[in-house]
Amino acid sequence: MAKKVLVLGELREGILRNVSFEAIAAGKKIAAGGEVTAVLIGKSVKDQANELFQYGADRVVVVEDDQLEHYTPDGYSQAFMAVVNQEEPEGIVFGHTALGKDLSPKIANKMSAGLISDVTAIEEVNGEFTFTRPIYSGKAFEKVVSTEEPLMITIRPNNIDSLVKDASKTGNAETMTVEIKDLRTIVKEVVTKASEGVDLSEAKVIVAGGRGVKSAEGFEPLKELADVLGGAVGASRGACDADYCDYSLQIGQTGKVVTPDLYIACGISGAIQHMAGMSNSKVIVAINKDPEATIFNVADYGIVGDLFEVVPLLTEEFKKIKV
Ligand code: FAD
Repeated sequence: MAKKVLVLGELREGILRNVSFEAIAAGKKIAAGGEVTAVLIGKSVKDQANELFQYGADRVVVVEDDQLEHYTPDGYSQAFMAVVNQEEPEGIVFGHTALGKDLSPKIANKMSAGLISDVTAIEEVNGEFTFTRPIYSGKAFEKVVSTEEPLMITIRPNNIDSLVKDASKTGNAETMTVEIKDLRTIVKEVVTKASEGVDLSEAKVIVAGGRGVKSAEGFEPLKELADVLGGAVGASRGACDADYCDYSLQIGQTGKVVTPDLYIACGISGAIQHMAGMSNSKVIVAINKDPEATIFNVADYGIVGDLFEVVPLLTEEFKKIKV
């Protein structure tokens, strides 16, 4: 049966995150021919609506308010719930991002709805949807069905393909006025860490370094390789603990969970806590001088060797392919 579905258009520093477009594609799937409405929340964000139409949103509802400039659970839930009350959706899709993980349970609670989180795949058989989600830090997957409406899910970035962008598409975003009040927290200032290049959680290629990189300078060849491949640099906790790089790069159980198309692990042993964050990458290449390193158990391609010899060679070869 065709459903009415809402998806959150999530912004970071004023730019729509890719997971918003993936959420539209997921929304289209569960809408089964019904209407997908993207919700944009923030201060002066209406300009972003066109891109949501171009990625397949049927409608875009915008809630703007000065108090929504930065994310707060109270502000965003008031704005989102106002749209929910107006639209009465049968399905809702959020990205499984820091913001989505915070907001979605609050909305589910307000709607007395269930929530299927961290969905990596959606299958439809005879009109019933099955959602795949990793459990036990990615060591197993479970398939879940929802027994009630509204159906609420969060989707893991980089797992559900967005629709092909149609740059010729435009639409009229609908503005909704919502009285935002009684905020229990107010963000006075956001101090961002200087970050270079591609966002780790949405990167299609990640070159990650471990304790085997041996120093902060040791990360330079990894950065060069990541640059050539248009990717991001990540790290094991071993490398972060040793102060070779910032904790914002940490991948794993207590770091970021990533699912790039290509993950190149350099000088990383493959501790279970690290693998919890990267073992669902589509293709894993491991470079390690120890042929017995555990990382080779999950690697699709293994290179036994010194990373300081192998990584520059790979960079040179990829440069030739790019030319
Ligand atoms: P090591 O285990 O020291 O491995 C270094 C590797 O580099 C070795 O395999 C070595 O053979 C190789 N090497 C050395 N020199 C070279 C060279 N020149 N060329 C090629 N290879 C070389 N870890 C995470 O990563 N993420 C997490 O989120 C995380 N969370 C944790 C949570 C808890 C509660 C606990 C207890 C631990 C957690 N850890 C986490 C830590 C984890 O257990 C490991 O200690 C850590 O992942 C090890 O990092 P590493 O592989 O870089 O270092």
